[in-house]
Amino acid sequence: MRDTLKHKGMRNKLANLLEAKGIQDQNVLGAIRQVPRHLFLDSSFEAHAYQDKAFPIGADQTISQPYTVAFQTELLKVSPNDKILEIGTGSGYQTSVLLTLKARVYTIERQLELFKTTKRFFDRMGFRPKKQIFGDGYKGMPEEAPFKGIIVTAGAPEVPKALLSQLAIGGRLVIPVGIEDQIMTLFVRKSEKEFEKTTYGNFRFVPLLEDKN
Ligand code: SAH
Repeated sequence: MRDTLKHKGMRNKLANLLEAKGIQDQNVLGAIRQVPRHLFLDSSFEAHAYQDKAFPIGADQTISQPYTVAFQTELLKVSPNDKILEIGTGSGYQTSVLLTLKARVYTIERQLELFKTTKRFFDRMGFRPKKQIFGDGYKGMPEEAPFKGIIVTAGAPEVPKALLSQLAIGGRLVIPVGIEDQIMTLFVRKSEKEFEKTTYGNFRFVPLLEDKN
């Protein structure tokens, strides 16, 4: 598959739609205009890649809906060079949106098949997260903490304590919390012990699974 002017036009429309749905951060909308979402999907979805919908990516997982990606990214408030941890690499689309915003990205995936295909895809495309690991996101990445931002892209039955503890002071954790559907939740670390919690609307994610080992 290639990236063409036609795809660019579809991305523009998608970004305009997301703006109409309430996304305000122009840098986030700019990243949606830039990242070729159709290349992150199986070619059979090419015609649909710029609809505001989730699609299967294998291993029973999905690429998040563009609105959800934009909403979470806006809440993260990414500045260039920020150190960001992503839980749930999946297709790598969200990772690439963060890279486009010039974040230093660390990302974890627990499905081996997805970890491998996305790693190969990144190598081929020249996308460079600082670190991409196969592991359990519940544990975060303690050896790289603290992070300016942590984004969880699967539905968490509860907020993993490890993730809160790996936030820098002033850092932001964006996490959908719930089982059937999830409430988008933002934690801002005010001090060593204090976190400010704000909740947003309802979303629906695949579950954040605990490691069986
Ligand atoms: N950010 C992805 C969204 C993929 S869906 C994208 O843009 O495509 C959520 C992903 O979280 C899935 O790939 C799933 O395998 C992964 N996941 C679920 N539980 C996890 C865990 N405990 N640790 C790391 N990844 C997990």
